[in-house]
Amino acid sequence: MTVRTRFAPSPTGYLHIGGVRTALFNWLFARQHGGQFILRIDDTDSERNIESALEPILDGLRWLGIDWDEGPDVGGPYAPYYQSQRSAGYAAAVEQLLASGHAYRDFARPDELDEERKAAQAAGKPFLYSRRFAAFDEATAQRFAAEGRAGVVRLKMPREGSLVLEDAVRGRVEFAWEREQDHVIQRADGSCLYHLANVVDDHDLAISHVIRAEEHLSNTPRQAFIALSLGYDLPAYAHLPLVAEPGSKTKLSKRKLAQYLKNQDFRRVMEHGQQIAARIGGGGEADTFNPVIVDFYREVGYLPWAIDNYLALLGWSYDDKTEFFSRGELIERFSLERINSAPASFDPKKLWAVQDHYMTALSVDEKFGLMLPYLVKAGLVADPPTAEQAEIVRRVIEASGDRLKVAGDILAYADFFLVDEPVMDPDAVAKRLATPTARQHLEAFAARLAAVEPFEPAALEEALKATAEAAGAKVGDLVHPIRVAVTGRSVGPGLYDCLAILGRDRVLSRMSAALGLCG
Ligand code: GLU
Repeated sequence: MTVRTRFAPSPTGYLHIGGVRTALFNWLFARQHGGQFILRIDDTDSERNIESALEPILDGLRWLGIDWDEGPDVGGPYAPYYQSQRSAGYAAAVEQLLASGHAYRDFARPDELDEERKAAQAAGKPFLYSRRFAAFDEATAQRFAAEGRAGVVRLKMPREGSLVLEDAVRGRVEFAWEREQDHVIQRADGSCLYHLANVVDDHDLAISHVIRAEEHLSNTPRQAFIALSLGYDLPAYAHLPLVAEPGSKTKLSKRKLAQYLKNQDFRRVMEHGQQIAARIGGGGEADTFNPVIVDFYREVGYLPWAIDNYLALLGWSYDDKTEFFSRGELIERFSLERINSAPASFDPKKLWAVQDHYMTALSVDEKFGLMLPYLVKAGLVADPPTAEQAEIVRRVIEASGDRLKVAGDILAYADFFLVDEPVMDPDAVAKRLATPTARQHLEAFAARLAAVEPFEPAALEEALKATAEAAGAKVGDLVHPIRVAVTGRSVGPGLYDCLAILGRDRVLSRMSAALGLCG
């Protein structure tokens, strides 16, 4: 059997991190088995402009390296891959279900259904429609229509017994038929409902494995009923555990941002992102700048594979200890059997740690390639950068080592090298320059700097130590005010690297300007 899996997003205008987890598992499974991964757009109920609402989803998947063999853009043998363009197949399926007696036309009005529903409730029983207004033949249908009633098509669901399925994650699952309604599959206007479309498409696109979020488990009995009634073989099902809020068991939803921000790690990630976004004029639409949405990570400068690797661990594990996988390893080792059914909490701190692991492993050249666009966007270097700017950025990256956690961090680490005058952070100035001894230390160090040769970290460190010793002060007493004097703030690459990168002239002129701020 050829493995064919699919990810079936609706065009919502954003790519949810939980959706990526679903897409990723489908993609991994297909790749592992040499099968196909299909992207199908579930746009039956969409009122939005499909193109623009789809773009962030396709872009996000591409960025994450989750490529599809068939779907929008690439087409494929089962095209079209948009539900809105496949309605003829749905209508034919409805006709088939009517003809085989698995569905019927129904002319009940909403108030009549409501009455029955309330009566069942009062009697403490599950609501099962009496089928009073069902029309199993044309004459009855015409009589109801003559009364001005509108007809829909409903499934004629079994009312006894149960459906038993083997779910690859959950094992044996049983659904009692009496809990299922006679679901509507076609509206009065002839349009078909989502569940019917879903089943027909999975069959027509030859999907072998339906791997999807747990929230769809409760839809499975009606979908299986439709499939079996149409004479289809059922696909294999795997219902993935919920992607839950940090430290909770409720579904992670983009609307609950305010609530997540009570979580310290979430808040830190968000604030960090906001600082970066503010400097590149980013932050997207406020609505999508949200750590539940993939664009957030892209904008801030996470590595796509860090996100994939982290998401693979949301509900799946290889051996309870391996955390890092290359793309090839993940494809090889992934298995549906090792997916856990318990909700998996989204943990921004863990994601940060995975990101750190991959960022640290990059070469200076790789970081340069990732980080340069941030500096261009912020207007700190030309596009393309001058040779001098490129050299400065390279040296800053080298000197910053693993302090650069996301690509956007380069802004805070490189900006003061790339401007004529650094922006002075008032807190740093108050704490480090407006002190009784700062002036004396700056002047003494400046005097020595004139003669330091070469103007490189080792010699600069020696000069600073000698200055401290001569003044009977500690090295730290000098490092802090000097750092603030030349960079404007209290964090950045190591001080000696900063001095060397800035060069003698700029260091001396910044130190002399800073004297005006000293106590
Ligand atoms: N379009 C559905 C969703 O957005 C897909 C449901 C399924 O995978 O069967 O969740």
